[in-house]
Amino acid sequence: MLDQTSLLIAIGFSATALMLTLVITWLGAQQDRYLLSWGLGLGFVAPGSMLYGWFKTYDPAVQCTAFALLLAGFAFIYVGCTQFSSNRTPGRAAVLGWLLATGLMAALFALGLSGVGTMVMNVAAAIFFLAAGREHWQARSNTPLAMFAKAALYGSTAITFALCAIVLFVEGQWVLTARPHNWAEDLNSIALLAALAAAGAITMALHQFRITEAHRHLAMTDALTGLLNRRALFSLAGNAPVAPATAVIMLDLDDFKTINDRFGHAIGDEVLVRFAAILSRALGPEDVAARLGGEEFCLLVHATNAAAVHALAENIRLEFLGTDPLPGDFGPPTVSAGIAIASPRPENFDELLRAADELLYRAKDAGRNRVHGPELRLVA
Ligand code: GH3
Ligand code: MG
Ligand code: MG
Repeated sequence: MLDQTSLLIAIGFSATALMLTLVITWLGAQQDRYLLSWGLGLGFVAPGSMLYGWFKTYDPAVQCTAFALLLAGFAFIYVGCTQFSSNRTPGRAAVLGWLLATGLMAALFALGLSGVGTMVMNVAAAIFFLAAGREHWQARSNTPLAMFAKAALYGSTAITFALCAIVLFVEGQWVLTARPHNWAEDLNSIALLAALAAAGAITMALHQFRITEAHRHLAMTDALTGLLNRRALFSLAGNAPVAPATAVIMLDLDDFKTINDRFGHAIGDEVLVRFAAILSRALGPEDVAARLGGEEFCLLVHATNAAAVHALAENIRLEFLGTDPLPGDFGPPTVSAGIAIASPRPENFDELLRAADELLYRAKDAGRNRVHGPELRLVA
């Protein structure tokens, strides 16, 4: 048998330290509400656990208050888990769950059935932890190991709470005269201490991971169009040989400088955004569209055959003609394209890009608003 009082007070201190860490982190990243919810949850768990552990003599009113605080803490932790994994805030479910459990528990304590009230508290805690674990389990696709670890921590904590209720029930302890002290309570205190500490550390690690991912995404994305940028394209297709039957389509908007000069930069930007949207719609899930800079774009597509790739570029050209965002009598904006397909011999991305670029400039020379390749290159 462990010294339960010390364990409960340790939970209190551990929860306080974690709460401070989470709230301070939240102050620097207030859009991440889950940090605040978890922090608030721990802010309730800390006094609840200390109150529960502090008094040697058994006072049902103190017990009931401590349980109400703990349940509020667990409800907030559940809310934080849901916000983290699915960006939803299940405020109503948490408040209703807490009110129901606490109301029932308080009524039982008031009737003198402190043992049954304690069972209710343990069952409610198990449900909150189970629900929190389930949220992580369902969102495990992104960071499987960390989410699985959190789901397992919450799930096993839920089991130890359920065991506490079962032991009281099996022993027929409807009325308590002392804090329950059995193997299930010991197990539960250890599980809660471990779950809070480990879940706190994993949460901070996941938070950091999300920040890194967001920065990586920003560094790889073109801010205006949302397409990949040049850096992303080269890191994707960069050095390794290109798979055979991969097509590179280079596209460059025609007379774009004149559009800017005549209608202003804002309209120019709008033309770029519309063109990018056409590209995104035209491509399959495995294909890649990038803005290389200015009004130059590059597509990397799987080429079933030369005619199909040519038709894809031709459709893009025609669709761009059809969605004219320009005012006045300027005529619709146009685009020229050059296409190269990787031959069976090993070929790198740079070579392919250069070949497509050369065809693009032939298209420009030939009068713009047209697609050249890939057949020209195969002949050449
Ligand atoms: P060509 O048909 O030969 O391609 O002629 P062009 O005018 O399209 O080509 P040029 O390279 O002379 O001009 C490209 C212009 O694109 C010049 C630059 O001001 C403009 N540009 C580059 N980036 C942006 C941008 O982000 N927004 C806007 N609005 N214009 C941009
Ligand atoms: Mg141009
Ligand atoms: Mg250009």
